[in-house]
Amino acid sequence: MTEKRRSRMSAEVDFERDGKQTGFIRLFHSVHASAYGFIPIPVVVIRNGAGPTALLVSGTHGDEYEGQVTLCNLAKSLEPSQIKGRVILLPMSNFPAALAGRRTSPIDEVNLNRAFPGNPDGSITQQIAHYISTELIPLADIVFDLHSGGSSLRYVPSVLMKTNADKAFEKRTFAAMQALAAPLAYVSEGGQGTGQDQTLGGEAVRQGIIALGCEMGGAGTVNPTALHIIERGVRNLLVHVGILPESARIAGEPTRITFVGGADYFVYANEGGVWEPCVELGDMVRAGQLAARIHTPETPWAPPAEVHFARDGMVLVKRIPGRTVRGDCLFHLCTDAPELMAG
Ligand code: CA
Repeated sequence: MTEKRRSRMSAEVDFERDGKQTGFIRLFHSVHASAYGFIPIPVVVIRNGAGPTALLVSGTHGDEYEGQVTLCNLAKSLEPSQIKGRVILLPMSNFPAALAGRRTSPIDEVNLNRAFPGNPDGSITQQIAHYISTELIPLADIVFDLHSGGSSLRYVPSVLMKTNADKAFEKRTFAAMQALAAPLAYVSEGGQGTGQDQTLGGEAVRQGIIALGCEMGGAGTVNPTALHIIERGVRNLLVHVGILPESARIAGEPTRITFVGGADYFVYANEGGVWEPCVELGDMVRAGQLAARIHTPETPWAPPAEVHFARDGMVLVKRIPGRTVRGDCLFHLCTDAPELMAG
């Protein structure tokens, strides 16, 4: 259940007012260098009368940049007169992490996307999660959390959603994902492991709100191709929900629909060392195929460890840094799922 206690955080903007407002959500943080100071989380609200609300979020992981650039551009280009309803932009949702260019917050080392529904009396990142859960998600008809691979991974640029036991809800989510007109999409079974989904999207779904995500490149940089895909996708999503008019739709390409399932889709390092990828992003691979060799230059005479793919599929993501330790995710796959196209 979502925490019912009120947030200590407060917004400088009025979410119910028409027009374009910019400002900060204040997260009070009393520290040695600033006794009464606050952490300024930037927020933009663009509203024009009654209508649907889209909550667009990036910087949930601070080292993922295509989404942050997308929302920066949207903050400047989108005007109230162009829309019906409301768009809320939260480009640096985990502000301390985004400022540091890190996945997790340098203040409490918490990963915002594993902190939902959050805690109003918890650590800094837990307070941010709680504010988004209790103050922003309830305003929204659709939530789009923009990700990429971060410092340690690179993706084939893709948009994504999770499966849902409520098939009517899943179908509406699928239609929204297709509206993005991205070249590649995947439907995922959910987070790693079992238990409550602690992601921002997972919290939105718990509240009955449609949630989409994306994985736009990564490797700790901005990928121009991925940026183009997601800027177009966000516009098309706003058309799909009725915030922008049909004339604002930007033609995309047919979306290749894929599926990401459980453990056999993932390849992990079985030893530490320097890993040598034996396939590249986008390659089609077979069960049993060699995925990587892990070398130990410390003992160069030792044979490398080998890891293999457990199933057929396409290489959707790969690890970026050359050093690896046992347990790192080196690759994960997706599989074509044309039957999902039928919805
Ligand atoms: Ca991410």
